Order: sequence, then structure tokens, then C-alpha cells
Amino acid sequence: ALTIGIVGLPNVGKSTLFNALTRAQVLAANYPFATIEPNVGVVPLPDPRLDTLAEVFGSEKIVPATVSFVDIAGIVKGASEGEGLGNQFLANIREADAICLVTRAFADPDVVHVDGRVDALADVETIITELILSDVQTLEKAVPRLEKEVRGKKAEQIVLDTAQQALALLLTGETVAAHRGDFDAAALAQFGLMSAKPFIYAVNTDDAGLADTAFQEQVRAQLAPADVIFLDAKFESELVELDADDAAEMLADSGQDEAGLDQLARVGFHTLGLQTYLTAGPKEARAWTIRRGWTAPQAAGVIHTDFQKGFIKAEITSFDDLVEAGSVAAARAAGKARMEGKDYVMVDGDVVEFRFNV
Ligand code: GDP
Repeated sequence: ALTIGIVGLPNVGKSTLFNALTRAQVLAANYPFATIEPNVGVVPLPDPRLDTLAEVFGSEKIVPATVSFVDIAGIVKGASEGEGLGNQFLANIREADAICLVTRAFADPDVVHVDGRVDALADVETIITELILSDVQTLEKAVPRLEKEVRGKKAEQIVLDTAQQALALLLTGETVAAHRGDFDAAALAQFGLMSAKPFIYAVNTDDAGLADTAFQEQVRAQLAPADVIFLDAKFESELVELDADDAAEMLADSGQDEAGLDQLARVGFHTLGLQTYLTAGPKEARAWTIRRGWTAPQAAGVIHTDFQKGFIKAEITSFDDLVEAGSVAAARAAGKARMEGKDYVMVDGDVVEFRFNV
């Protein structure tokens, strides 16, 4: 599964956030977690549509899609020079498919800040700088090697060109992620650059920060186009200890529309380039994870490889049409259930039944 690495300076609340995520994992009923690894938190992707489908179809259980977060220990200034956890730490980031950068905006004087000040944007700057410096090192090693290999016809010119292009960009202080569209994707992927990964930002703040829309707008403007989530890690860790009703009440009392962990799962899932389609029946209402842009046979393959090999058609109803009709039969009668072939590109919220040869 694709993973999101949780990264940030020490003492910003990463462990608190990660512990809340793993606690949410334990509470995620009905999901057959194959293995539980200590540094991986697999949390359900919140999707109220599944509750509706379970009602319409009388499903026994709900199986949500999941999002995996990996805890990566603290980064400090100088990490790219091997200070702190240095290289091991950077290797762990390289393995993640996206990065959730946690920054501190809570003011608690009892919690020391490594750089002696609470400034969420300055934290971001420190970390991004380390990632860029480390990518520069990677490319400065790669370029001379690739020059030789291109001369010996052992590497393609485009790979060398891409390395040089990325290096020039990084030396201006910009991340590759901000300019991904300018690069040859396949060539770029060979370098595993950290600053090329999609980023989301989790600003760990307090009541004051959650209520301060001007502050939030300012941070969002600085970090755009990346998504930014404002949450209170301490509050989230208390929320996951409660049962659903008490949690909903505590959340409502705090004036927030959605729990921070739910926002993080939703935005993280999207940032990984993923989407879901839905299936429903008496046994279960379920969300299946696919990459955005996948066709119907590829989507079928997530359920079973035989579904992809023997794919004939997909009967698709949009979630909204299905709920409006009240049943698949009624949706069919209303002409809202479509038969789609092998070139159909899946749309989020499609409720699907596959037809296939075995
Ligand atoms: P990490 O080093 O980034 O993993 O940070 P921790 O999660 O260990 O948090 C460092 C300290 O900050 C701990 O004492 C936490 O209890 C405290 N802390 C974490 N999140 C919050 C928060 O949202 N508000 C407040 N006031 N303290 C927090």
C-alpha cells in the first residue's frame, strides 16, 4: 500500500498525532488488518456514503478504504549533513509515497521548541531546506555517473537531462514537487528525490489557532498549492479514546466540523493520487482503493485478478442516483444504471457491479 511519512522537527507533536492515528486504527472495526507494524498506522478513510449504502442494501458490515501513515523520527537542522538521525532518517523518508509535514503552532511554554521559537512557517522552511540539500547531494553524485553512462550508452540522455534540470531547480531553493509538471516523470522517478514527493501540512495548533481564520489563511497562502490541515494533536488523542457518540459531542463542543484525523486521512488519500469506488450487497458495503484515472478492468482487478482478466462489463450507478432511486432495480428502471466497457475511466462515487467470465 502507498504510505504517507509523518515528518517534522522534534517536539512538534508527531508522536502525539501518530499515537492518535494508531489508536484510531485499533478502533477501526471490521477491517481485517493483515499485520500491525509498530511504526505504521492504518486508518479508515471516512466515507459517510458507506453508511447510506449499508442502509439501502441492508449490508451486514461496512469496509472502508484505508490510509497508511508511517512514523518517521524527528528531523533537525543539519540532517542532510548526517547530524541527528541523519542518513537513516532520510532513507525512511525516501520510502514514503507522500510526506505529511507536522509543524508546531501551539504556544505551550512547557514544551520546548528546538529552535527556540514557535513559528509554523519557519519550521516548514527548516525541513524543506534539509530535504532540498539532501536531494542536491543525491543529484551531484548522480550527474557525473550518468555523464559517463550516457557516453558508454548505458544510460539514456533524458535521465541525465532530468538530473541536471532538477539540480538547477533545487539550487534556486525550490522543491521539485512545485514544478513536477515540467519534468519527465519516468526519468525523475529514478532518483527518489524527497522534495519531489507530494506534501501535505499538518499544523499542530491549539484552540486559539483553530479559531483564528486569519492565521489559517496566511499559512494556507504560503503553502499553496499543498493542502494544509489545522488540528490539535492533544485534542485528537483524547477524541480517539471516546466512543462515537461522545466523540461527536466533544467535537461539536469544540466548534470543529470534522475531526483532524479524519481530515488528515481524507486529504492524505487524495494527495496519494487515490480514489475509491463502491460496492454494496447484503454482506458488505465497501470502498475499494484505486489510482485516479484507472479504467474499469483495472478497478475490477483490485477485487480479484480474475475479475480483470475476464472483464466483460461494469454496471455502474452513481452514488447520488442510487440513493435517489432507492435500489439498483429502481435505478435500472429509471435508466440510471449504465453498462460500461473496458475503456471506461472510473469516477469517484461509482457504485459498481462487475460482469466477468471465469
Ligand atoms: P514529537 O517529538 O514531535 O513526536 O512531539 P510529541 O508528540 O512527543 O510532543 C512533544 C510534547 O508536546 C509532549 O509533551 C506533548 O504532550 C506536547 N504536545 C503535543 N501536541 C500538543 C498540542 O497540540 N498542544 C499542547 N499544548 N501540547 C502538545
